[in-house]
Amino acid sequence: MIQAQGFAALSPTTPVVPFSFERRDPRESDVVIDIQYCGICHSDIHQARDEWGGSIFPMVPGHEIAGIVRAVGPKVTKYKVGDQVGVGCFVDSCRHCSSCQSGLNQYCLEGVTLTYNGYEKDGKTISQGGYSNVIVVDENYVLRIPNGMPLDKAAPLLCAGITLYSPLRHWKAGPGKKVAIAGLGGLGHMGVKIARALGADVTVLSQSDRKREDALRMGAHHFLSTRDKKVFAEYANHFDLIVNTVSAGLEMGDYFGLLKVDGALVAVGMPDQPLTFHPAPLISKRRTYAGSMIGSIGETQEMLDFCAQHEITPDIEVIPPANINAAFERVMKSDVRYRFVIDLRK
Ligand code: NAP
Ligand code: ZN
Repeated sequence: MIQAQGFAALSPTTPVVPFSFERRDPRESDVVIDIQYCGICHSDIHQARDEWGGSIFPMVPGHEIAGIVRAVGPKVTKYKVGDQVGVGCFVDSCRHCSSCQSGLNQYCLEGVTLTYNGYEKDGKTISQGGYSNVIVVDENYVLRIPNGMPLDKAAPLLCAGITLYSPLRHWKAGPGKKVAIAGLGGLGHMGVKIARALGADVTVLSQSDRKREDALRMGAHHFLSTRDKKVFAEYANHFDLIVNTVSAGLEMGDYFGLLKVDGALVAVGMPDQPLTFHPAPLISKRRTYAGSMIGSIGETQEMLDFCAQHEITPDIEVIPPANINAAFERVMKSDVRYRFVIDLRK
């Protein structure tokens, strides 16, 4: 076994603490990765605090992993020692269901193996994530980080980047399309940059005016503070697409009303409580309410290459592991500018 040092939540109500554990020895198709950086996703907090239910402890969070290949199994063909690589939200899937066969392995019908807070395929080993110094992953679930892209800035792309890239592509954000991103946090700020690069007209919907300058600097064409309820009337029937990254519940009817006829509102933010809304605003303009989860391994590689080509990187604040708990608190206050990245190098 490989000795790993990490940082774990031992229960939903206690802070993240140093934690030693073991990784499996590499199998023939495995890549051993020395982790250098890991982003802090709001999902890490939801799960470490068991806000979605069913969390498994001890939990080493982290699914925005960037590092360097330390060793490879004998059948690995895609990677070699020294390559810069990433790992996102899942580390395996069944590989034979219709989703896996059609390039949508994030929607594996048997369920993906989550990078953490899940069980490995043996059904008993708890998967542990990137707030640690080493991880062992099958090469088919490892991503290549393009040359020249700094690893600290690459890390957040592995979840925040792909979670916005996938719906923006699926719902065809591009020239002539009015796209809104609700919530300017880790996910939202990647949405702004990617939607802009795709050629869309980009608006940020934020709960206050605080982030206006940042949003415009990142490439948003427009910024609306939803604290002023008048925007919902002024911008009625305005957007082709809204991607909602907000980690809490919103008054959905207000947001549906912002969509054009046939517009779509796509949920990516996952609040801890169910939402209630009346379908009338959907019915009256044939609007769609949809959801989207991360992206496939193939699409994640496409996104990394797209970001390299367009020189898109996240705005990050690099922190030492000792500051993880303080960073969680700042994320909870929407005071993240715009992704915390933990430096795990020794
Ligand atoms: P984050 O950095 O905390 O950003 C969320 C943003 O939502 C905040 O910065 C804030 O933006 C806004 N917000 C927060 N609380 C709000 C409230 N009560 N009312 C209105 N707006 C509020 O979180 P993140 O890492 O981007 O993740 C966002 C959500 O997506 C989380 O629920 C996470 O679990 C989920 N997620 C989903 C997927 C997926 O595949 N679907 C993947 C990763 C994460 P403003 O200050 O601009 O209002
Ligand atoms: Zn995430």
